Amino acid sequence: MKKVVILGAGYGGLMTAVQLQERIAGDEAELILVNKHDYHSLTTWLHEPAAGTLHHDRCRIDIRSLLRTNRTRFVKGVVEAIQPDVSAVRLADGERLEYDYLVVALGSEPETFGIQGLKEHAFSIRSINSVRMIREHIEYMFSRFRNEPHRSDYLTFVVGGAGFTGIEFVGELADRIPGLCREFDVEPSQVKIYNIEAAPTVLPGFDPELTEYAMKVLSEKGVIFRINTPIQECSPEGVVLATGEKIPSSTVVWTGGVRGSSIIEKSGFEVVRGRVKVDHYLRSPGYSNVFVIGDSSVLFDPETGRPYPPTAQIAIQQGIHTATNIKSLLEGGELQAFHPELKGTVASLGKGEAIGMVGQRKLVGSSASKLKKIIDNRYLFTLGGFKLLLQKAKL
Ligand SMILES: Cc1cc2nc3c(=O)[nH]c(=O)nc-3n(C[C@H](O)[C@H](O)[C@H](O)COP(=O)(O)OP(=O)(O)OC[C@H]3O[C@@H](n4cnc5c(N)ncnc54)[C@H](O)[C@@H]3O)c2cc1C
Repeated sequence: MKKVVILGAGYGGLMTAVQLQERIAGDEAELILVNKHDYHSLTTWLHEPAAGTLHHDRCRIDIRSLLRTNRTRFVKGVVEAIQPDVSAVRLADGERLEYDYLVVALGSEPETFGIQGLKEHAFSIRSINSVRMIREHIEYMFSRFRNEPHRSDYLTFVVGGAGFTGIEFVGELADRIPGLCREFDVEPSQVKIYNIEAAPTVLPGFDPELTEYAMKVLSEKGVIFRINTPIQECSPEGVVLATGEKIPSSTVVWTGGVRGSSIIEKSGFEVVRGRVKVDHYLRSPGYSNVFVIGDSSVLFDPETGRPYPPTAQIAIQQGIHTATNIKSLLEGGELQAFHPELKGTVASLGKGEAIGMVGQRKLVGSSASKLKKIIDNRYLFTLGGFKLLLQKAKL
């Protein structure tokens, strides 16, 4: 029997597994899904638990609850190396998994562009564990301030990067501050949130009218922007900007970029910023039985020659597509090329506020925010039907 091994149960990998297990007969292939945690993280929601506006348990789903145990074997384990020359994967506990077809969906890691001190001293929004730490740290800073009121750095929060994650996080954080101020008897004017971006605009690539709207809404909530201003250095004392400005802060959260999982590069795959440049069947060059999807891969738009952005939207579509292609290979059929269907983008700006672009249509305010919830809920339904929707839906 053929063996299909899927590495990573994020948006791409879990969707591949769930779709494939529905399409193959029990004796057609052995399906193995490997993930380091036994839950799937709703990563696109993580700015909320990071700020403390949503409990982190709302952002995780028990992987086994979505698998048919007679079709798919779940292995909770950490992938240490992929050995494509011998079609095998090595896990940290020493287990070796052989495969006929491999799907690599290990996601991304923060990209710090060599900025001094960022890796060591900044938090990042990337997993349940990392956001739990951010939320607790923020609360701890408020409680420390009450005991050392001369330390304004405790109440200064710096968010590096005003892309999607940075903007969504400052929106949530600004919403959380009034509650924290009440809880810790702090005057709101003592709290500062800085959002720092190296590019000439927030949300680079987004429609200018919408980015202007986003900045207006967030500035009214108290966010201070430094645009066109790279961070030069980060230390336990705060950040130094390229302009020479020093911002003393005990909390720096870096959201400025991601690169592919380091496992891939260490395993000898050819990469661009840690990502495998896949062909239009989503296969790795040189290994026709290895598919690489989601943030671990990079695919270029043939019309613009530019890479598609690393998004959950694309990872999900690639997962569904890869399941179809593997099913076809198992039946001796042909592969279909992948063409993403870009349905639009919505960025949240905190409770009830968002901006979005759907086709040529621009949305702002509560209608964009409602659309964001629809997108989130649609994913839950596609992944786990009504049962999952009822458990996790955003209302
Ligand atoms: C705050 C935030 C908001 C976002 N908002 C949006 C949005 O609105 N729309 C959108 O389209 N995208 C959004 N994104 C981007 C989106 O989350 C990613 O593009 C998406 O998660 C990529 O999916 P993936 O399957 O490639 O990787 P992931 O979903 O990251 O999954 C990777 C999986 O691999 C596992 N893993 C990693 N390393 C190992 C290992 N060594 N061994 C075993 N398992 C391992 C991880 O635990 C994880 O389960 C957002 C991201 C963030 C952080």
